[in-house]
Amino acid sequence: MQKLGMTVSPAGAPRESTRPSLRLVPDATQPRRRVIVIGGGIAGLTAAHTLVTESQELFDITLLEGSAELGGKLTVSEVAGVPVDEGAESLLAVRPEAVSLVREVGLERDLVDPITTKPYLWLKDGLRPMPPSVMGVPTDLRALAAARVLPNRSLLKLPLEYRRRATRFENDVSVGAFVESRLGRDVVDNMVEPLLGGVYAGRADALSLEATVPALFRELQDENSLLRAAQRTARGGSRRAGARRGPVFAGIRGGVGRLPGAVADELRLYGVDICTNTSVRSVHRVDDVWRVIVNRGEGQEVFTAEDMVLAVPPHVASGLLAHICPPAANDLGLIDMSSVAVVTLAYRAADVAPMSGSGFLVPQIAGRTIKAANFASSKWNWIARAAGTRQQRDDALVLIRASVGRIGEEEALERPDRDLVSDVHADVAAAVGIATPPVDFRVTRWPDALPQYATGHVRRVDRIRASLAGIEGLEICGAAFDGVGVAAVIGSARTAARQLLARSGAASATAG
Ligand SMILES: Cc1cc2nc3c(=O)[nH]c(=O)nc-3n(C[C@H](O)[C@H](O)[C@H](O)COP(=O)(O)OP(=O)(O)OC[C@H]3O[C@@H](n4cnc5c(N)ncnc54)[C@H](O)[C@@H]3O)c2cc1C
Repeated sequence: MQKLGMTVSPAGAPRESTRPSLRLVPDATQPRRRVIVIGGGIAGLTAAHTLVTESQELFDITLLEGSAELGGKLTVSEVAGVPVDEGAESLLAVRPEAVSLVREVGLERDLVDPITTKPYLWLKDGLRPMPPSVMGVPTDLRALAAARVLPNRSLLKLPLEYRRRATRFENDVSVGAFVESRLGRDVVDNMVEPLLGGVYAGRADALSLEATVPALFRELQDENSLLRAAQRTARGGSRRAGARRGPVFAGIRGGVGRLPGAVADELRLYGVDICTNTSVRSVHRVDDVWRVIVNRGEGQEVFTAEDMVLAVPPHVASGLLAHICPPAANDLGLIDMSSVAVVTLAYRAADVAPMSGSGFLVPQIAGRTIKAANFASSKWNWIARAAGTRQQRDDALVLIRASVGRIGEEEALERPDRDLVSDVHADVAAAVGIATPPVDFRVTRWPDALPQYATGHVRRVDRIRASLAGIEGLEICGAAFDGVGVAAVIGSARTAARQLLARSGAASATAG
C-alpha cells in the first residue's frame, strides 16, 4: 500500500480558504482501486471525501450526479439580490458530523450562530412562543402553561402522566399514537404534529417513535413517564464529542448551500472525477466489477469500478438494486417520500410589522397553506446585512422563507407558482402583519424530498443493511437511514465510506 504524496498545485480550484492549495499526485505505476459514488448530494460528496481523506490507498473515484448541480437539497440562490438557502438552512451543531465536515473543507470561519432560535406556534388566536419540548413532548409544564398553546382541560390532566406505568414496546408505535395515549390529542395536534411536519413533512400518526425520536425512545426503556423521559432526554442533552459549543443549530455565512461546492473543490484537488448531468440508469455486477450504465448528453456510457457507494434517494436505489438484491430493493421501495416546496418572499422592511423570534410552525389542524415560516433576515446576520435590515437602510428588505407540503398533499404543490405565492403570502401576511405584496419571490419545489420514517423503519433499515452486506463492493447511505438532517446524512455517508475502506483493507490507522 502506498502513502499519499502531495505537491502544491497552482491549478487548485478557487474557493474562500486560507489553506494552501494542495493536489495529490497520482502514482501511475500503482494499481488503484476504482470506486463509483452515485449521487452528488451531501451524502455522496461526504462519502467521496471520507474515502480520499481517510484511506492509505489511492482510489480512483468517480462521482456521478444526475442533475446539472451538485449538492442535492443543499443549494443557495438570490431573492431580491439577497442569497437565501433553497433547501437546508441550518446544521445540527450538537453532533459533530456536519460541523467537522465544514471545518475540514475550510469553511470554519464562516460557521455562524443564529441571531435568535426562538420559534413560535401559529395557533388560531395568533403566534404563541413554542414551549421547550423534545419533538413536541413538553419538558417544562410551567413554561407550557405560560405559553397558552393548550386548552386548560388538557393542561390540567398532564401531571397525571407522571404516575403512569412503563410501556413495554413489543412493536414500534407511531409518535402520535403514543403521545396521545399519554398526554392527549391536543399535545399531538398543537405541538408534536407541527414539529414532525416541519422536519419530515410527515404525520405524527404514521411516523415511528423509535426512528424519529431515538433518544426519547431510549429513555422510555427504563422510565415510566413520558414527561420525565422527555425531561431526561433534554437534560442529558445530545451534545456529543466533537460538537460545537453554543446553540443547537449553526449556519454557514452565505448559506448552507455553499457546503457542497467547498467539498467538491476539495475532491477535485484529490483528483476525484466529478461528472454532473450523468444520470445512472442501471448497475450490474459482472466478474467482480460494477458496470454502471449512465445517460450522458445524447447517449449512454458505461463506467466500471470494483466498489460502489449508492447515495441516491431510496426509491432510486430501489430501482437500481431491483435485480441485484430484490429484498433490499423491496424494502427501499416501501419508504414513502414526501414532497415539499419552499417559497421565499422578500418584503420592503417598512411594510412589515416588527417581528420577534426565528419563525413559526403551523399545526396541520389550523388548515393553512404553509406549515412553517422562517424569518431568514431576523435569524441570520449575514442575510440581515445583505438585506440592509441590520444597517436599517431605507431600502431594507425582510426575507421570509415559508414551507408548504406534508405527505399526501402533493396536489397542492402542483399549482402554478403565482397561485402558490399568493396563498403563502396570504398566510404570512396574516401571521406577521404585512399589508403589501412581496417585492420579489422564489419558489423551489422539492419533489419526493423527505423519506418518511414510518413505524417499523428501524427494522426495515436493519433488513436493508443485512441484505446488502452480502454483496461485494457495495455500500449505501443517505437520508433514508440514520436521520434526515444534514448532520445525520453526513454521518451515514462517513459510515458507508469507512465500511468500504475496512472491507478493502485501505482504512488509515488514524481514521476514527
Ligand atoms: C426543503 C428542505 C429543507 C431542509 N432543511 C434542513 C435543515 O435546515 N437542516 C437539516 O439538517 N436538514 C434539512 N433538510 C434535510 C436535508 O437537507 C436532506 O435530508 C439531505 O440534504 C439529503 O442529502 P442526500 O445526499 O441523502 O440526498 P439528496 O440531497 O437528495 O442527494 C441525492 C442526489 O442524488 C442525485 N441522483 C438521484 N438519482 C440519480 C441517478 N439516477 N443518477 C445520479 N444521481 C442521481 C440527485 O440529483 C441528488 O443530487 C431539508 C430538506 C428539505 C427538502
